[in-house]
Amino acid sequence: MNAQNTHSFSFEFFPPKTAEGQEKLRQTRQQLAPLNPEFFSVTFGAGGTTRDHTLETVLEIRKEGFHAAPHLSCIGSTRESIAAILQEYRKHDIRHIVALRGDIPSGMGTTGEFRYANELVEFIRQETGQHFFIEVAAYPEYHPQARSAQDDLRNFKRKVDAGADAAITQYFYNADAYFRFVEDARALDVHVPIVPGIMPIYNFTQLSRFSDTCGAEIPRWLRMKMQSYGDDVDSIRAYGLDVVTELCERLLSQGAPGLHFYTLNQAGLITELWQRLGLSKR
Ligand SMILES: Cc1cc2nc3c(=O)[nH]c(=O)nc-3n(C[C@H](O)[C@H](O)[C@H](O)COP(=O)(O)OP(=O)(O)OC[C@H]3O[C@@H](n4cnc5c(N)ncnc54)[C@H](O)[C@@H]3O)c2cc1C
Repeated sequence: MNAQNTHSFSFEFFPPKTAEGQEKLRQTRQQLAPLNPEFFSVTFGAGGTTRDHTLETVLEIRKEGFHAAPHLSCIGSTRESIAAILQEYRKHDIRHIVALRGDIPSGMGTTGEFRYANELVEFIRQETGQHFFIEVAAYPEYHPQARSAQDDLRNFKRKVDAGADAAITQYFYNADAYFRFVEDARALDVHVPIVPGIMPIYNFTQLSRFSDTCGAEIPRWLRMKMQSYGDDVDSIRAYGLDVVTELCERLLSQGAPGLHFYTLNQAGLITELWQRLGLSKR
């Protein structure tokens, strides 16, 4: 399959907290750099727990000649603290941001001055005008706290109406959920690009646990098949790669504007996926 040049590809990292993690991420970046993504994005802990590490990682990526976008989550924050972060990002001429609500870390009592991501998007636009290209999150299988599918879609639209330029989705393994979500969003007059978030299957047990809490579903057929491999990590890896390759192929061939890969700071599976998708010739 030949993906066209018009597709946009991006890779997400989390900011390492230790010197060892930083070194490992540098190696991962070296391996991923030849794939020439549109941008790398760097997550941000709710309540600002990784704030400095996020900026540090973004600046390091930029020094290597790549475009990098920090995530920014608002839950637990004051308007003043978010304004200070925005100002710092502007000072470094950062122009691309992924704006999120975040989740309240256990033990942190207060939700702060922002309740939802649409309020953050609105605030960024108020404070900085059109300086930032703003991405927001979308949930093809709906956010776990959504009151209903329609309500979640309307809340997604609020973020776009507040000024978001594009969206990246939560990961999913059911391509139909994505295509239906996009169709429903278009019916609500939401026309920004909605880029699928792709989670390669690194560790199936961890993935299953995480998926229950984040609004992503592991289909029964996939769960059963993975369970049948028991401790056979090679088979789990190989099957996971087949499944995710087919998912990406279908998404790209049926109209997705690009792919955003959750790398978990690892390069191996992404590089292999890339080759299978024929993207090296891009
Ligand atoms: C691509 C991507 C990147 C992410 N990166 C990070 C990261 O770096 N750091 C981090 O901490 N988390 C990150 N997350 C996780 C994210 O913070 C959580 O999924 C969080 O629970 C929701 O964030 P949101 O921005 O989608 O919230 P929102 O869009 O605010 O939605 C949260 C919930 O509230 C509802 N809602 C939204 N607006 C309203 C409203 N105005 N009135 C009533 N209800 C409303 C929605 O339906 C939904 O159920 C990421 C998620 C994705 C998909």
